[in-house]
Amino acid sequence: MSSPERARLIADKVEAFVRQSIVPYERDPRRDHHGAPTDELVMEMREKARAAGVLTPHILADGSHLTQRETAMVLTRSGLSPLGPLACNTMAPDEGNMYLLGHVGSPDIKQRFLNPLIDGRVRSAFFMTEPAEDDGAGSDPSMLKTSCRLDGNHWVVNGRKCFITGAEGARVGIVMARAEEGACMFLVDLPDPAIRIEHVPNTIDSSMPGGHATVVIDNLRVPADQMLGEAGEGFRYAQIRLSPARLSHCMRWLGACIRANEIATDYANRRQAFGKTLVDHEGVGFMLAENLIDIKQAELMIDWCAGVLDSGSLGTAESSMAKVAVSEALMRIADRCVQVMGGTGVTDATIVEQVFREVRAFRIYDGPTEVHKWSLAKKIKRDWLAAQS
Ligand SMILES: Cc1cc2nc3c(=O)[nH]c(=O)nc-3n(C[C@H](O)[C@H](O)[C@H](O)COP(=O)(O)OP(=O)(O)OC[C@H]3O[C@@H](n4cnc5c(N)ncnc54)[C@H](O)[C@@H]3O)c2cc1C
Repeated sequence: MSSPERARLIADKVEAFVRQSIVPYERDPRRDHHGAPTDELVMEMREKARAAGVLTPHILADGSHLTQRETAMVLTRSGLSPLGPLACNTMAPDEGNMYLLGHVGSPDIKQRFLNPLIDGRVRSAFFMTEPAEDDGAGSDPSMLKTSCRLDGNHWVVNGRKCFITGAEGARVGIVMARAEEGACMFLVDLPDPAIRIEHVPNTIDSSMPGGHATVVIDNLRVPADQMLGEAGEGFRYAQIRLSPARLSHCMRWLGACIRANEIATDYANRRQAFGKTLVDHEGVGFMLAENLIDIKQAELMIDWCAGVLDSGSLGTAESSMAKVAVSEALMRIADRCVQVMGGTGVTDATIVEQVFREVRAFRIYDGPTEVHKWSLAKKIKRDWLAAQS
């Protein structure tokens, strides 16, 4: 079977599953104190996904991943409900973590840490960002402060992290810390008494179990064979995860915005004002037309960048461009959907309000828009200088 056919079949199955079996869960009251779905709810949806053959649909039975272009087709469909990625096990940070472990993990690390994630029975967290008040890593990863030192057969890790999605309740952690050799990445079993949840802030979003925690790492002892690859290579591995993880956020959120746009379109075609349906008012029709244009541009940017990654390139500049263009386009789409729907748009009567809230943070995580533009500007200057010599 050719690759596009294979992906289309999987994507169609995922879409049917999300629309028929997961959309009804959007009204399910099982939420934690931050409004996120409880783990019980997630596991119930996952059992349905397993039965429907759409659990972790982007990783094949032999452990290989779909290509990025194929992944785009599948992850976009899983995003058609804010619960879809959780149900299908295509959500962040697990999807990016699985990608990283699949590409860099030793056979032992894959067996212990990756397989339970692919199986969808546990969740993981990625510990990189550090609090601004500690002058730690944020937009600038080189400010990484969390330390690690070798003590016999163990590494001892100390530091503080923040915005760690899903840390509360995760069973697998990937922790970044700095040794004399440079940045290191460790696989850790969670919970561990040496990793204490200090605080889970209230945030604008409400789709991630465990929220986005601030954690203290206090003399965490990690067996030396749980270091991912080599000491000092942590940023290189982060780079491997970076572009595909950025792009997969674009895919899932594109799915969410496509659905929000369907809901707004339906509203605009039913609701009357001033003697005609809303869609016949140019102001409303134009907003929906602009949504279609932004959706198509987002799809094309994702497909282009996915093709670059599939060619074997790290796609650093391309994924920066795609991430900025898509996250900004999706924000515009979500905003217009709210506007088209009037007061209903800001209520929880539909997922439009949730998509609007959640897409906002996407302009910040995996690199704020300004940081991507800044690094593209540096590349423009480098390329110009190279062209002069
Ligand atoms: C919902 C959510 C989930 C997250 N999940 C995780 C996670 O699971 N694990 C994890 O490790 N981290 C996570 N993060 C953290 C995220 O990666 C950081 O928020 C991001 O890297 C920005 O760092 P900061 O918040 O410290 O912002 P700062 O570094 O303080 O930057 C603030 C602002 O300054 C501006 N800025 C910074 N540098 C430049 C520049 N060079 N040029 C122009 N402007 C600039 C940007 O506008 C930026 O938004 C998450 C964040 C959010 C919001």
